[in-house]
Amino acid sequence: MSCLRLAFFSVLAVAATAVHAADPHSYANVDAVRTRSLALDLDVDFKRRELSGSAELQLEWKDPAARTLVLDTRDLTIERVEALDAKGEAHAARYTLDKRDAVLGSALRIALDEQAPRVRVHYRSAPTASGLQWMTPAQTAGKKHPFMYSQSQSIHARSWVPLQDTPAVRFTYTAHVRGPKELRVVMSANNDVKHALDGDFRFAMEQPIPSYLLAIAAGDIAVRETGPRSAVYAEPSVVEAAAKEFSDTEKMIETTEKLYGPYRWGRYDILVLPPSFPFGGMENPRLTFATPTVIVGDKSLVSLVAHELAHSWSGNLVTNASWKHMWLNEGFTTYVENRIVEAVYGKAPADEEFITAADALRREMKETPPAQQRLVSDVDDADDAASNYAYVKGAWLLRTLEARFGREVFDPYLRDYFDHFAFQSITTEQMLEYLQANLIDKHPGKMSLDEVKQWIYQPGVPDDAPVPTSQRLEAIAAARKEWLAGTRKAADLGAKDWNTHEWMYFLDGLPEKLTTEQLAALDQAWHLNGSPNAEIARRWYLAAIGGDYRPARAEMAKYMTCIGRRYLVVPLYEALVKTPDGKAFAKQVYAKAKPGYHPMTQASIEKALEKK
Ligand SMILES: [Zn+2]
Repeated sequence: MSCLRLAFFSVLAVAATAVHAADPHSYANVDAVRTRSLALDLDVDFKRRELSGSAELQLEWKDPAARTLVLDTRDLTIERVEALDAKGEAHAARYTLDKRDAVLGSALRIALDEQAPRVRVHYRSAPTASGLQWMTPAQTAGKKHPFMYSQSQSIHARSWVPLQDTPAVRFTYTAHVRGPKELRVVMSANNDVKHALDGDFRFAMEQPIPSYLLAIAAGDIAVRETGPRSAVYAEPSVVEAAAKEFSDTEKMIETTEKLYGPYRWGRYDILVLPPSFPFGGMENPRLTFATPTVIVGDKSLVSLVAHELAHSWSGNLVTNASWKHMWLNEGFTTYVENRIVEAVYGKAPADEEFITAADALRREMKETPPAQQRLVSDVDDADDAASNYAYVKGAWLLRTLEARFGREVFDPYLRDYFDHFAFQSITTEQMLEYLQANLIDKHPGKMSLDEVKQWIYQPGVPDDAPVPTSQRLEAIAAARKEWLAGTRKAADLGAKDWNTHEWMYFLDGLPEKLTTEQLAALDQAWHLNGSPNAEIARRWYLAAIGGDYRPARAEMAKYMTCIGRRYLVVPLYEALVKTPDGKAFAKQVYAKAKPGYHPMTQASIEKALEKK
């Protein structure tokens, strides 16, 4: 690196630390007052598609002059607001609900005569709540009962609870939830595997959490225990396969504890959702929500569990103070995830996963505007903060630190970091200050603070960023090259023993436009069309769209209709809209698939379809 660049980076880094820490994605007046605990009392009404009841917030006032409490809401109907005095007596409170902002929702401004220790809001959610999905029986695996689940990250908790919807505020919570008998209600709290299906559930989360980790689901949900402190919840027809796929959960928890200290949340359960779940997984504390698309029968995609479990340290324990610092959650977690995979399944699969992700990022970098390649960058919509940069580039920085300082230094450092900031919400600047004092200054000459800041505040990835090597992937790259050059037949690729990640690596590295003959030969040899493995299928359909390979369309339409995970289906829509014919096909598929998609998936696809 030249001196000129170093100087340039230092100037920018100073500017970056000067940005204030407030959260642009919340209306909450957190400098004046903070929520310490939340008590929910809710009815789950499938007919009306609403949660109704009350949210009682216990408050800690920071500013003696403040008499207003501002909460975040989106599309909630507010029925009344009460202030509770020190004796617990309720008094009607005046409030106004601001005009709706498309991204942020409506601020609920509650005017108080005095600083009430508690405030109770009576409300109903909208059937279109952005953080809830209400599914008809036909949209579930069992077809008999409806299903409902939440997805609060990043700023969707406000669509089902009026609250200070910013990761800067942490609170404990209790909930009393009533739903239809026969169905089970679960939350990101203490679920009881033996709870009777009596329609009356009570929950407590004793550790303070940020609002995006509030989670609820209700449906025909069965349970299988997978270890002394872990279980799988899923629809009855899915639960056995899920328990088998996730049978290494206890091993993963023990591994992570050895590396980074005790698991502090009691139980670690997994709820497998219907295929419409918009994400791979969501690290709701004590109860990870997961897509069924990782249940492939050979544990090849269980790094998703490693990822969500890792969040019990990075994210849930040490939390980004606002969404522009999301890499503190996701980059650290992606790094820890890889360490868990290495410890449980070996170095080769862990390296393959990292190489595949790093290669994909290098390719993506050619098309992303430089400003979006920084680890810390301002985004209009908090949902846009979750980029590959936050995940993969963030993890790559930690890998670089590990390589420079050595595991004997870096592992205990990271463990201390989690202890030091446990149950706090922090900014990148706080992370950097700690890094300098406890790693860089203690072990001079390994990596400078300026180098770390370059990773964080500058686009791209330094050329000397460490990448492991994999003989198997090198052999696959060589086979791919020969096949593309026409010197090797598709049937001779040697793919019989390829695992999921090796297939991903092979397909990711194909040029965008293959010929019809090439695609037909590949499909004939390896039966990619209709693959039950969602990761392989996603890449095959992208290749088919690039080469306009029509025989893939029927299975592609099925795939896009059955699955609602954004990462799997949105790129297909984005690729299809590039041609008029593809766009017409995409619109046709969407018309059928839309009712089964989560509101967040619908929003992403509609954005893609509207693009000129
Ligand atoms: Zn994550």
